[in-house]
Formats: sequence, C-alpha cells, structure tokens
Amino acid sequence: MTTPQPRAAVRRMKEYHPPLGGRDGLRLDFNENTFSCSPRVLEALAKISSAELTRYPERGPLEALVAQHLNVAPAETLLTNGVDEAIHVLCQAFLDAGDELLLPVPTYSMYEVYASSTEARIVTVQAGADFRFPLDALLAAITPATKVICIANPNSPTGSVVSREAILRILASAPHAIVLIDEAYFHFHGETVLDLIGRHPNLIVARTFSKAYGLAGLRLGALIAAEEQMQWLRRVISPYSVNSLALACLPAALTDSAYLDWYVEEVLAARREFAAALDELALPHWPSAANFILVNIGSQHAAFTAAMKTRNVLVRDRSSDPGCDGCVRITIGTREDTRAGIEALRESLAAINWKRDSEA
Ligand SMILES: *Cc1c(COP(=O)(O)O)cnc(C)c1O
Repeated sequence: MTTPQPRAAVRRMKEYHPPLGGRDGLRLDFNENTFSCSPRVLEALAKISSAELTRYPERGPLEALVAQHLNVAPAETLLTNGVDEAIHVLCQAFLDAGDELLLPVPTYSMYEVYASSTEARIVTVQAGADFRFPLDALLAAITPATKVICIANPNSPTGSVVSREAILRILASAPHAIVLIDEAYFHFHGETVLDLIGRHPNLIVARTFSKAYGLAGLRLGALIAAEEQMQWLRRVISPYSVNSLALACLPAALTDSAYLDWYVEEVLAARREFAAALDELALPHWPSAANFILVNIGSQHAAFTAAMKTRNVLVRDRSSDPGCDGCVRITIGTREDTRAGIEALRESLAAINWKRDSEA
C-alpha cells in the first residue's frame, strides 16, 4: 500500500522545535522585551469590538500607517505574521530548484529552516575572527545561481553588525539576487538601510514588533521593498495572515514612542552594566548592538545553562551554532531584570565551579 509522500525537500527536513516548554521564570532566552508592551496596546486590546472579530482583517489601512511611520510608500510595505512569515514568503516566492540561498553564519535559524522546504541549495559563509562580517568571502560566494542573501543586522546570536558600505557592495555585486537586511534589532542599534529602498530594487528590509515593542505573541512584522519586488510577495502571502487583534494594536504600538524610547534606553543602560559585569568576571563575550550578549562559557556551557535554570533564569545555549562552541546567548532587558540575571549568573558560575577552559 502506498501512502502520500511530500516533496523530497520536505522529506529531508527536520521539525524545528524552539525550546519553549513552559518557560517559567526570568526569560532571557528569546530576546523578547522582558517587561511589557506599551500600556496603550493593552487599552486598544480591551476595546476590541465584536465586529472586529467577526469580519476578515483588512491589512491595507495599517500598511499605509506603517509606511508613513517608516517614510516609505504604502506599495513598498507589507505587513506579515512576524518576520518569520516574511522569510517564509520570500523563500516561497524566490527560491526554485537550482537556486542558491547565501547566508553568512552563524545567524538566525529561520532562514535555513524556510529555505530547506524549497529545492534551493543553502550556501553558508563562516564569519571571521570575533564574528566579523565575512564580506570578502560572501562576495566571492556570489554566483549566477545566488537568488537570495539573508543578513541579520544586528546579527543573532552574535550581536555583531555589518556596515552600510558592506551592504552597498553586496547590493551592487548581486543585482540578480534579493538581499534581505533583517533589522529585527534595529531599535537597539539605530542604523538602518531603509533609505536605500527605491534606489536598490534588489533590497528588502525586515522589521518586527516582537523585540523592542514587546509584542512577540501578537506576531507582527513588516517587509519593505521596491514595488517591483513587492508584487511577487503579495501574490504568495495569505491576505489574512495578520489577524484583527494585531492590526487593532498596531496604531497604539507605533504612536507610543515615549514607551518605546524608555524601553530602548533601559536596555542600552543594562547592556553596558551587563558587559561591565562580564568583564569583571573575566567571562569572554562580544560587543553587541542588540538586546542580548553572546557569552563564551566554554566546555561547561550545558551545566551553566542548567544552573541558571535552577535559579529560574532562562538563557539560550547556542553552542551548536557554527563557530559558537561553548557560547550562551543572554537577553538584556530592563536594568532590574538584567541585575537579577547578573546575580543568577554569579551564583551559577560559583555553583558549577566555573573555570576558563585554558585553566581547567
Ligand atoms: C527574533 C528575530 C526575528 C523574528 O521575528 P518575528 O517577527 O517574531 O517572527 C527575525 N529575525 C531575527 C534576526 C530575529 O532575531
């Protein structure tokens, strides 16, 4: 008896299971906002009417609002069910058999997850020393088959950045490829290439409401690209993938800039405190332009992560990411939450009798 079989690419895939599993305690594992979203968003949610739930969601008017906020045209703006859906739609629209997806690694996992459900080949380029952006290696890896290049700026799990000059060189060197600049952590870095939309038809920029805005559960992201590329993405995306609750909350999130500014300032101050604490403990780490820091615990990374969990602090072991052996990624939240994290970190290092690998 034969049973239905999926495409070959799907048979090769593994299920992607983010380590959620309850997640009680101080969540420093997914780079979420550790405090809250804007109270105005909660007010908007409380005012949802029956009609808003009864009818199908209409994305258009909110796309216009986001476009205005980002100073781009509505036709260049696409709201998505988080940046994850944006990546999925991009892969579905552009990646075919014989195409290549080019990725500097380590980077955000979902580029590879969604690309692996297509027939395209995934080509990776390893970051340089101290996770420096591998510009020369990336340029050398561009071929006529390169169809999509995904770059997170700032990058996860490293917190490292890529310069505007480097992005311009990539855009010019791969005019036949989509270059996605994923600015999920934009607010903690402050640099963007959004202004290049319109001048570079192969550029796509992504933004999310999941990190600084504190709305990861709402699933709200945006893609910005030249209309010429956007028309393909609009064909592939579901017309209702951004639901009515997300759309109803969006204006409040966008207009409460005082709340957003407050949270970003908290994180930037906490990031300085956290880096100073790591220096004092002689724990190797890398400079971060995002709301997390990658720390090199070394061979005791698993014991450390478990010891933190015993103290109700969740952190993310990134040891199996390429070039990240022994590394753990720790989210930076408010100063208060970050201080609690530092306290748990000190206790955990003592509890596992932590030593640098060279001294062990
Ligand atoms: C967290 C993250 C995202 C996910 O965004 P969603 O809008 O929650 O899907 C996208 N890109 C990067 C680099 C991230 O770290």
